[in-house]
Amino acid sequence: MRTVTGRTDRVVVVGAGLAGLSAALHLAGRGRSVVVVERDPGPGGRAGRVDLDGYRLDTGPTVLTMPELLGDAFAAVGTDLADHVRLTRLEPAYTARFGDGSVLPVHTDPERMTDAVRDFAGPTEAAGYRRLRDWLTRLYRAEFDRFIAANFDSPLGLLSPDLARLVALGGFRRLDNRIGAFLTDERLKRVFTFQALYAGESPMRALALYAVISYMDTVGGVYFPDGGMAAVPQAMARAATDAGVEFRFGASVTALERRGTRVTAVHTSDGERIEADAVVLTTEPHESYRLLGRAPRRPVPLRAAPSALVLHAGGHADHPIGHHTISFGEGWASTFRELITDGRRMSDPSLLITRPTATDPSLAPPGKELFSILAPVPNLDRGPRDWDAEAGPYADEVLEHVRSRLLPGFTPEVSYVLSPADWQRRGLVAGTPFSYAHSFGQTGPFRPRNLPPGTENVVLAGGGTVPGVGVPTVLISGRLAADRITGTRRTAGRTMEGAR
Ligand SMILES: Cc1cc2nc3c(=O)[nH]c(=O)nc-3n(C[C@H](O)[C@H](O)[C@H](O)COP(=O)(O)OP(=O)(O)OC[C@H]3O[C@@H](n4cnc5c(N)ncnc54)[C@H](O)[C@@H]3O)c2cc1C
Repeated sequence: MRTVTGRTDRVVVVGAGLAGLSAALHLAGRGRSVVVVERDPGPGGRAGRVDLDGYRLDTGPTVLTMPELLGDAFAAVGTDLADHVRLTRLEPAYTARFGDGSVLPVHTDPERMTDAVRDFAGPTEAAGYRRLRDWLTRLYRAEFDRFIAANFDSPLGLLSPDLARLVALGGFRRLDNRIGAFLTDERLKRVFTFQALYAGESPMRALALYAVISYMDTVGGVYFPDGGMAAVPQAMARAATDAGVEFRFGASVTALERRGTRVTAVHTSDGERIEADAVVLTTEPHESYRLLGRAPRRPVPLRAAPSALVLHAGGHADHPIGHHTISFGEGWASTFRELITDGRRMSDPSLLITRPTATDPSLAPPGKELFSILAPVPNLDRGPRDWDAEAGPYADEVLEHVRSRLLPGFTPEVSYVLSPADWQRRGLVAGTPFSYAHSFGQTGPFRPRNLPPGTENVVLAGGGTVPGVGVPTVLISGRLAADRITGTRRTAGRTMEGAR
């Protein structure tokens, strides 16, 4: 594995999102002196927090999987995840609701889920689910350590027995076809393929490799931290501070000072000059390349993932629902075509509705409920729109769907909408918080690399580089960046002790 060259005693990490915090913890644990520079007033980045009239809204991720990766980051500085964040394992992980009125709780326990599938779709599908679960587990084992959680220097580095195993498992076939080998009920197939959208693709185009996301949530489990998702970056920043990491909040990095092919210092909007032996950039790749003063070399421009409109709504609710509900519209292939190909909004939307107060009631005033409703929408490259004008009316439409499907009569007393216009103002590519899609040509060795050419001591991390978008993957990207600086040194064993 290639690493940066020269001294690496002092490292500056740009960005205190989950990728930057993970990098900082792993680097501090390996004896580096680390300064993190973040333009926002506090940590979290996309995993942000807004306080509104007694409601505490998580503005980013809501589905937390693979907490053992968080455990790794805390263990890197010799501390336990469980001492910092209290996690609840959600049971069921999701509830799936379909256009025909049917409902399926998605349990991670194999027996409970087999029973639920049998009740829902009969014994043949229940047997298919068991075979699918076994396949997902084998896929995850063949894929994770070697292809997701590892640095590689060229596509040739991937040639290995694990690659042969992945091919044999059908990992390079299309996701919906592969899942169709186990399940025939169209509703059930959706439960194990909708995760392709997390990777920015449709299940019809995504590689079956991406079923690893279904493994993470339907087998590995979904968790929720006390205090909401924003409690995670806050705890990471505290642990990093205890380990000696210095933070400069409210300061943007404006320039990188270079000597030849090395970056020697980072300049901030506060006028500070911070000397560095190595730098980790967790900014969007286009911003990282701007700071580096060069353009990425790619034969074909990168394609961004679809975006989302998120409506956060709080108030009294007579029909409380579980923590996560996926409310599928009737359309399926047409929904992905509208979002990804045509650049239009979904005519019959599929929505992720999260009720964090189901697990932590303190996130809303006493007796009130908080909901966040995520509606996928096209990114601004594929479907340019004036979201500043359209976000409010579209949020009303989305709320109407939720009322008619799940929460009759729900009238929010507070609401807060985030749309592609907001992500664009944050400098996110094509107004999407989900970065570049994980198409074949933008996956693994074909995704923007974490060692940018032309510099000797800069490493990239975050969703725009390897391994990709999402909480588990950006935590890994921070560790991979640390490995590029110090060489591979695995930290103490994974821990699930944060879970109760
Ligand atoms: C609405 C939404 C829902 C999501 N849902 C899920 C989910 O359920 N599950 C899941 O796993 N993932 C989900 N994600 C994705 C996940 O949140 C992201 O992939 C992850 O948080 C990105 O982390 P990051 O560190 O790469 O980027 P960021 O969090 O964006 O961190 C980059 C940081 O760099 C800072 N920065 C930028 N430029 C500069 C500069 N010049 N100087 C200093 N600082 C700078 C930014 O302020 C930011 O804090 C969701 C994201 C959103 C927005």
